[in-house]
Amino acid sequence: MDYVTLGRTEIKVCKNGFGALPIQRISFDSAKEILLHAYNSGINFFDTARFYTDSEEKIGYALSDVRDKIYIATKTAAQNADDFWKDLNTSLNNMKTDYIDIYQFHNPSFCPKPNDGTGLYEAMLEAKAQGKIRFIGLTNHRLAVAQEAIDSGLYDTIQFPFCYLATDKDIAIVENCKKNNLGFIAMKGLSGGLITNSAAAYAFMAQYDNVLPIWGVQRMSELNEFLSYNTNPPSVTGEIKELIDNDRKMLAGEFCRGCGYCMPCPVGIEINNCARMSLLLRRSPSELQLTPAVQAKMKKIENCLHCNQCKSKCPYGLDTPKLLEENYKDYVEILNGKEF
Ligand code: SF4
Ligand code: SF4
Repeated sequence: MDYVTLGRTEIKVCKNGFGALPIQRISFDSAKEILLHAYNSGINFFDTARFYTDSEEKIGYALSDVRDKIYIATKTAAQNADDFWKDLNTSLNNMKTDYIDIYQFHNPSFCPKPNDGTGLYEAMLEAKAQGKIRFIGLTNHRLAVAQEAIDSGLYDTIQFPFCYLATDKDIAIVENCKKNNLGFIAMKGLSGGLITNSAAAYAFMAQYDNVLPIWGVQRMSELNEFLSYNTNPPSVTGEIKELIDNDRKMLAGEFCRGCGYCMPCPVGIEINNCARMSLLLRRSPSELQLTPAVQAKMKKIENCLHCNQCKSKCPYGLDTPKLLEENYKDYVEILNGKEF
């Protein structure tokens, strides 16, 4: 089995981490079955967030008996110290534990620091002094905030999107974490569903010994795919190399990662799927995207107000309204019989 050490935390875990966002969508008992199977198969790092509805409770429900054998990371999106403490106490309660291994600021638009007026970083230090958290982390989708957090010396880990579609600037974040002895936790290893070959996704990550991918799984079959790489780790050679090279060519440039940070939209457009529909149609079973329900969602693009709220919130700097228009045009043409 491959292991990763998260920089100066010295937390050493199985190279496959568990991303607990998708277990929100399944029952408590199904989540328990999957979480326990992951644990019994060697996975010992679980990442969740206060924001993921009942995901933390499911972790508490499934794993409280083995709490001392696993590492838990969760996140707060609090903007002030009062909300920070509310979130932290709720998370501890939900997960039936009295400490969190890595407590992360959840995608803040700035890098929290002491004396910045928010009281957030001071609250982290106080929580650490009280033994409620062990290490301080930050998650982000913005290169500048991630780099600032690394340079600040205030953080033990960075969680950032990373997959085989990464740009040189994304790779530089990984390398800078290594240089500065910070742990690097990779989110969106399947690029929000655009990468469909998990072996290729894993093989790419395996090239970086400081990277801990957290795979979001909600089905046993998905989990078993990743578990199989514990015993037979794939590498970037032959067919996998060719597939990665082709995907990098096809998906080069600006595309929507499906993160949803631009939402909600005032007219209810499901931007995180509609703005990448052309890719979803071509990279996943297209019939799933052509149902009456999806057609109705796409039709809402006609109501776009061009208010640019989404554009201003997109951490990738995408021109979201334009992207929606392009995807809608392609979609309508496909409905009308265009070959794709
Ligand atoms: S520009 Fe259009 S899609 Fe974006 S938030 Fe405004 S109405 Fe919604
Ligand atoms: S448009 Fe930007 S913010 Fe919105 S889902 Fe896509 S990548 Fe995320």
